[in-house]
Order: sequence, then C-alpha cells, then structure tokens
Amino acid sequence: VLNELRDLLPDPLRTHWQRVFRATPDVQELSLAAFTMFYQDNGFFSLGNSTVGEIEAQVLRMATSLFSPAVDSCATSTSGGSESIFSALHAAREWAREAKPEADYPNIVVPYSAHPTFTKMPHYLGIEERRVPMSSDMRVDLGAVEEAIDRNTIALVGSAPSWWFSQFDPIPELGVLAERHNLWLHVDACVGGYLSPFFERLGEPIPPWDFRVPQVKSISADLHKYGYGPKPYSTVIWRSSDLLRFHFVHPESGPAGAYKMMGFTGSRPAGPVYAMWAIMRHLGYEGYLNLARSVRDNRNYLIEEVNSIEGLTVPWQPVLAQVPIAATDISLEAVNGGLKSRGWGVFGMANPPILHVPLDPAATGDTTEAFLSDLREVVAEVKAGQWEATEGLRYG
Ligand SMILES: *Cc1c(COP(=O)(O)O)cnc(C)c1O
Repeated sequence: VLNELRDLLPDPLRTHWQRVFRATPDVQELSLAAFTMFYQDNGFFSLGNSTVGEIEAQVLRMATSLFSPAVDSCATSTSGGSESIFSALHAAREWAREAKPEADYPNIVVPYSAHPTFTKMPHYLGIEERRVPMSSDMRVDLGAVEEAIDRNTIALVGSAPSWWFSQFDPIPELGVLAERHNLWLHVDACVGGYLSPFFERLGEPIPPWDFRVPQVKSISADLHKYGYGPKPYSTVIWRSSDLLRFHFVHPESGPAGAYKMMGFTGSRPAGPVYAMWAIMRHLGYEGYLNLARSVRDNRNYLIEEVNSIEGLTVPWQPVLAQVPIAATDISLEAVNGGLKSRGWGVFGMANPPILHVPLDPAATGDTTEAFLSDLREVVAEVKAGQWEATEGLRYG
C-alpha cells in the first residue's frame, strides 16, 4: 500500500505553487515532527482544562500580538480561512440582532476583489451579499460601497490584501463608513495577516489595516499561509473579548449538558496547534522577519525576470507576494496549458485573466529558476503555435 502511495507523490519541484505555504526546510522538519508527535490528539478538548488548550492559548496570544491589539484583543482558532470568515460573519450577524434590530434581511457589502468565501458563507448564514466594483487602483470603490448600504446592511468587508490583486482596500475609509452607518467592519487578512507586519518592519509600503484602524472589529488571518503552519489552521482576531459573546454558541444540549467548542468544528486535529507553537518558538520575531525578507527579495527578482520575457508582463505591483502574470500578445491559457504539461500547477484568475504565483520562503533558488526556465520555453512554444488555449484559468 505504501508503495502505491509513493507512486502518487507529485514532482516536488513543479507542484511547489500548489503546496504553498511553506518555510525553509528546518521549519518544515520541525513542523512535521511536532505534528506527528501529537497527531492522535484531539483539538476538541482545547476549551477544557487541557494541555492542548494551554498550548493553543499561547499560540493565540503570540498571534494576537502582531495586529496592533487593543488591551483585551484576543483570537480564536479555526480550520482555515473559510471558517474564519464564516465565524466573523456569523458574529456580525449576531451583533446586528442587538445593534441593528431594524435589519430584517441582513446584507453585507463586499469588494469585487474579495475571496469567493464571501459569496459562499453569506449563503450558509442567510445573509445577502452585495459585491461592489473596484476603482482603477484595484481597491474597492468607496462611492459604490456607500451607495450599496441600506437599513439592512450589517457589515462591511475589506481585504488586506486581496488574494487576487495583492492590494489593500482603504480600511480607514471603510472604517469611517462603518462608523457613520453603525456597521461591523471585518478585515480579511487571510493571506497577508502573518506577512504584512514583517513587510511593514522591512520598510515596504503597507497601508493601515489592522486594529490601528479603530473601527475594525474582526480580522481573519491564516496561520497555514504566512504563519507557515500545517493545514488546517487559521485564526480570527477580535478587537475585544466582549465580542466573543457573538461568536460562541454554547447551549445546554440534551444529554451533553454544557457544550462549548472553539468554533464551528468539534473533533479536529491537535497536530497543527502543536506544530504552530513549535514554529513560532523556533522562528521568533526575527526568524519571521528574515523569511519575509527572502520572500520580498524573491518577489522582486521574479517580477524583473517575468517582465524580461517578451509576451508576458507583470501588470501591477503586488503589495505583498502574489505575483500576477499576464500575457501581452499571446494566449495566457495556452501558456497555462504548456506549464501544466510540464507538471506545473499554477493558480489562475478568470477575470481579468492572470496566472498567480504566491511566493513562500521555500521557493528560493531552484524552484524559481526552474519555473522561469520552463516559462521561457513554454512562451517560445506558444509563439510557435504548439499550445492551444485549452487550459482554463482556475483558482481551485
Ligand atoms: C486563502 C484565503 C481565504 C480562504 O482561506 P482557506 O484557508 O482556503 O479557506 C480567504 N481570503 C483570502 C484573502 C485568502 O487568501
């Protein structure tokens, strides 16, 4: 059986972009060891008086410290960005039942560039989603946001940054609107949350987005992205602990009596919690800073090299590290097809057509060079008519 599984193992080099986000080998080995040590344990017990609960509390305190927390800001663990966004929107809905009782048919106003989860989760929660256009700078159009707000609006959303464009929505301006209309403001920092603080420290131009913006009530940030933890692990960071009463659902339930879980899930792996603790302790602030520096330098290198390939361009500057690749006068779908036939899996965006390279600290040297060299060859082949535009651009 193990041999059968070995046959399924993908080419580690060319599947790199699909297996993001990873850090350097020392971090990967430590993470695996910690995960394995506790892989039979259950995160189910984390709110009981338990070891996994103590370790989780330490992870969440270290995490919270990165977001310019207020005195009693705090965080909860989730199984990923999707659950983090579900949790924040659920809390916003519960909050609105008190704060906006006139909102009978709650809606939220979401930028065009927001993650598809902001279409999916409102569906589960009985909330209407209003997706509004971006301005030419790929940040949400504030006029369109204000126009979409009505008496049933309960929350505004901004990305910091958006997965698609790696641009930060104008969070302080959204904050002003949230205050004016009495709305919950959620910031989706799933991809950027654990990278932005370090980019800012490196002197990169990071717009204001965290709890320094006083109206921000909740932030979603994925530890399994630039926290470099194993999947599944993400966090919601709450401005203050009294918001948790809108998060927790803990009924007295049938034979169980009291039942209180960290979030949506019951049984869940404890491995990611221990692995995350190990990674944070091992890297420390300086370690994360050094990894951020290598991501930034690699991003700048990749942008320069892609721009030097005739037929391709990096159409905008990512604020963080998701490098967009567009075609100038060849078919990008054909380029994607050529890359796929060589074993590469690259994230795509349908509208506008973009190939997306999310850089992580493990993508140094070999990976980047192999990608660039295959990319150059594929572009030459596309120009020679070898690839048809058959491979659509897809996110998942
Ligand atoms: C990844 C991501 C999500 C969703 O996270 P999952 O872990 O895939 O559920 C949401 N928003 C943004 C900006 C993301 O990058």
